[in-house]
Amino acid sequence: METLSCQTGIIYDFNKNHKPIKTVASGTTIEIETYDCFQNQIQSAETVVSEINWEQINPATGPIFVEGANPGDVLKVKIEKLEIGAQGVMVVGPSLGVMGHRMTEMEAKIIPVRNGMAIFNEIEIPLNPMIGVIGVAPEKEGINCGTPGSHGGNMDNKMVTAGATLYFPVFTEGALFGLGDFHAAMGDGEISVSGIEVPGKATITLEVLKGVKLKHPMLENDEVVTQIVSAETLDQACKRATEEMVDRVAEKAGMSLSEATMLLSAAGQVEVCQIVDPLMTARFVVPKWLLKQLNVELI
Ligand code: CA
Ligand code: ZN
Repeated sequence: METLSCQTGIIYDFNKNHKPIKTVASGTTIEIETYDCFQNQIQSAETVVSEINWEQINPATGPIFVEGANPGDVLKVKIEKLEIGAQGVMVVGPSLGVMGHRMTEMEAKIIPVRNGMAIFNEIEIPLNPMIGVIGVAPEKEGINCGTPGSHGGNMDNKMVTAGATLYFPVFTEGALFGLGDFHAAMGDGEISVSGIEVPGKATITLEVLKGVKLKHPMLENDEVVTQIVSAETLDQACKRATEEMVDRVAEKAGMSLSEATMLLSAAGQVEVCQIVDPLMTARFVVPKWLLKQLNVELI
């Protein structure tokens, strides 16, 4: 299997001007190693968080050039396997996250990972290993890896986990894919601005799809198909994700807009990915039992 180390190359922004560090054919399965979102700078509780290098935040391993990917195509990314390190870290601090206005100093907490649990003091938290930053180069200027958008990026969506398949619009030749920022566990919202931040390895399969219309990333797993949208406010993100999905279901199922709206009002879910990054991210979730009855595939 192809492998890619984070020592080979990392990016701090998704940018069509970056030189790829790896070129793969469509259909390639590759194991990618990642730093944690602090580039592994916080290894003990004694680390003074305010003194780490804040230029080295949210590194994504990449970019990977996928042969045959051109603007207007879709990059399909199947997450085959996710492995995480034995220790995670969380932070809080003034102006960070939902509670930042109540924090007086930066604090870090080391969270050991063992036996399928993250150990927070004596409390055991079930793991949900997931990828925070994943995406392709955007259409225009570069977007730093801390910010989400229609190219993906820092979506901090807890559904981005082993078994999930993501779909990204391709904006530049080769797509220029990258990923990083794994979490051992994270709740919807990511309220402190950190999940349980860990280094890790992801095994993924990259495939170019032709003739699929897509404006924002989508994700599917065994149970659901979802539309992910990031916007300046959570209201906008929720409403745009909803509208994109209603339009897609109406078109694919040959339903009127009013019928599709009623159906998804009854059986679809608006859910929060994160509310702490420079743009907010929401997902609209459609169960596959519904799509089966409609006899449609959304992608
Ligand atoms: Ca993140
Ligand atoms: Zn993170």
